[in-house]
Amino acid sequence: MNNFKWPDPPSVDKYSVCVHCGLCLQACPTYLETGNEAQSPRGRVDLIKAVSEGRMAINESFIDPVFRCLDCRACETACPSGVQVGTLIEEARGQIRQAEPLTGFKGMVSSVFLKGIFPNPGRLKALGTLTRLYQKSGMRKLVRGTGAMRLLPRHLQDMERVMPEVSARTSREVLPPLVPAIGEKRGSVGLILGCVMDVLYADINLATARVLARNGFDVMVPQAQTCCGALQVHAGERPTAKLMARQNIDAFLEAGVDYIIINAAGCGATLKEYEDLMQSDQEYAHKAGQFVAKVRDIAEFLVEVGYEAPKGRVDVKVTYHDACHLAHAQKVRTQPRQLLHSIPGVELIEMRDSDVCCGSAGIYNLTHPDMAEPILDKKMANVPPEAEILVMGNPGCMMQMSVGVHRKAMDQEVVHTISLMDRAYEAEKRSGA
Ligand code: SF4
Ligand code: SF4
Repeated sequence: MNNFKWPDPPSVDKYSVCVHCGLCLQACPTYLETGNEAQSPRGRVDLIKAVSEGRMAINESFIDPVFRCLDCRACETACPSGVQVGTLIEEARGQIRQAEPLTGFKGMVSSVFLKGIFPNPGRLKALGTLTRLYQKSGMRKLVRGTGAMRLLPRHLQDMERVMPEVSARTSREVLPPLVPAIGEKRGSVGLILGCVMDVLYADINLATARVLARNGFDVMVPQAQTCCGALQVHAGERPTAKLMARQNIDAFLEAGVDYIIINAAGCGATLKEYEDLMQSDQEYAHKAGQFVAKVRDIAEFLVEVGYEAPKGRVDVKVTYHDACHLAHAQKVRTQPRQLLHSIPGVELIEMRDSDVCCGSAGIYNLTHPDMAEPILDKKMANVPPEAEILVMGNPGCMMQMSVGVHRKAMDQEVVHTISLMDRAYEAEKRSGA
């Protein structure tokens, strides 16, 4: 008897290909931290199989390992059998949230943020405005001065310290519906603005649009788009994620663009897996396939279609962190490095274990700080001391690595790959090259 009773259960095709070889164990950050088989990829796949076959109930011994997984997909890179551990985990979380809906404070937080705020750009903007008010009005100084911050857990205090200043206007407000190509037009792209990128890192979206236009692409910004739904998929809130996917599929297919561009690794992985998410939706399964065929990470896109290397110099030593959802989920590893190598003056110093998770993993650093902290500590120990800038392609990693820099009293800047490209193009403009 299958104990997964709701739509989209983990399928036998996915978990049965595990041959128990254990090659994934040493790649798994939670296994390395705990030494516990249940907290390993192989252990988690086994648990999912056991619930599927009715040998185990959805109980705490199942729920904890499934939610303690970072969904970092390092196991997928290591696995010779191609087990899709990340998708299995996401589907299992969907089942858990149907079997055991969150209640009390956690239920309220999940409902307010995952179902109420993130799918709604207007509410997200309002939250951003409140945050900006807090940052700008002197309230932050007051809160810090009175020591009230110390009432919060340490990881929340650190987050508050490194949170970027919310700009007065989101990228959705600043960008026109069409940013025209500069020079000869090579095609058109649709830009996904995201949720965190749009509000907290609006400048990265603006840089992305500039770089795309600079390389000959019309950049369309469909106003009907919404957040990609990655946070919801990771949290097991699949019904909300599906509604968001429908909205994005409609918005971008109607725009009729050649490509759909994303600059956040976690979002890119979710967008590329919309077909899987929408497989039981008769109306959208096919459209999801059309949408997915157009999605590219910004670094992947520039290398695929070709770009003009910037002529402006940025004299700096950098190191690159492979965001899990770029390296392991999307297999985008060489392209960001190629972009960095093409910037005059940039010296790339490789970081040891650059593709090991930093502990951010969506909101994992908030829900599982006990595990996220030691994982971040290991990451920071691998940062080459001579690097002046830490480069990466995911906002969650940027926040987490900024926390790491703050905790270790380091002084590196944390910068998105495309922002560095944009700096070089801006330097080119200034020099008149
Ligand atoms: S996704 Fe990451 S944390 Fe989860 S089982 Fe795989 S390697 Fe371990
Ligand atoms: S590497 Fe793949 S096949 Fe081997 S135990 Fe891990 S998940 Fe199973």
